[in-house]
Amino acid sequence: MRQQNDETIAEKVFYALGTINLIKIFDHVEGSVIDLAVERVHQIEQRMSAFLPGSDIFEMNKNAGNGYTRIHKETFRLLERGNYFEELTGGAFNMMVRPLVELWGIGKKGNYVPEEKEIKRIRKLVDYKSLLLDKKNCLAALKHPGQALDLGGIAKGYAADEVKRILTKNKVKNALINLGGNVLTLGQHPDGDLWRIGIQNPLKPTGSYLGTLSMTDKTIVTSGCNERFFMKGGIRYHHILDPRTGSSARSSLLSVTVVADCSTDADALTTALFVLGLRDGIPLLRRQKAEAIFITENLGIYLTDGLKNLFSIKQDER
Ligand code: AMP
Ligand code: MG
Repeated sequence: MRQQNDETIAEKVFYALGTINLIKIFDHVEGSVIDLAVERVHQIEQRMSAFLPGSDIFEMNKNAGNGYTRIHKETFRLLERGNYFEELTGGAFNMMVRPLVELWGIGKKGNYVPEEKEIKRIRKLVDYKSLLLDKKNCLAALKHPGQALDLGGIAKGYAADEVKRILTKNKVKNALINLGGNVLTLGQHPDGDLWRIGIQNPLKPTGSYLGTLSMTDKTIVTSGCNERFFMKGGIRYHHILDPRTGSSARSSLLSVTVVADCSTDADALTTALFVLGLRDGIPLLRRQKAEAIFITENLGIYLTDGLKNLFSIKQDER
């Protein structure tokens, strides 16, 4: 058991992958371990960002409709994994969503709501079957001009798995990783308990929790409509897009949290579950052996069976 006064030994807060990230280590290991992990996140961003010229994804998007691009092996593998979730969810998870992300410009274009005919036109570009993968030569292509990839729904999870791998390899036993809502816990909290991870009230400022989840050695990933959004005419327009409608997903949910072993998979799943909603989401979760917390529009909390003893509701938040 760890001592009450045992404190964080190394901590880094840094910006990458379009979000604020945190790594905290509670063991005496070489000081450079945390820097290695941060560098790795930046390396993933340099390969997978849709914004950085020279990144695999940037170059693929530039070449859309124009043939194959040679990409790094790890980008290729992540595209394959993402593609698995695209197939599994019938395209609710869809990495080809970038043209819609640009059209809406949530967080960038003020309260802009595109015209229906514009949405219809752009929506046609969002087709996950247009991603062509040549495994033998590590080449990838987008079939049609104007198509574009966006790994925003899966790359943070992948980066979180990679940070965990680096920390574990360097003998870190107790740590907290939070890459923009992709949380991974290792070992114990410094007070000797399991980690207690707060589940955000999506209608309140960051840090107001509906309850806490006690866990360790798992990943806890949340997708919510409270991260990037605006309100117009009583409608909440947010950054998780339903490829079927071309607009923000309206599945009567405010957030979905997935608890699983692999953060990459949990990241893709939470985004997909947000689009699919509770009814279509539950059977999918069963097949994936993952647990989840769904927060519905009226702040109802739906927990899958495996979480019922691990979640404590904070009554005063409801
Ligand atoms: P997350 O916070 O993991 O749910 O990811 C949301 C981000 O993924 C958005 O900001 C977009 O960049 C991208 N995205 C939006 N809708 C989808 C979707 N249906 N499938 C995959 N990625 C999406
Ligand atoms: Mg996601």
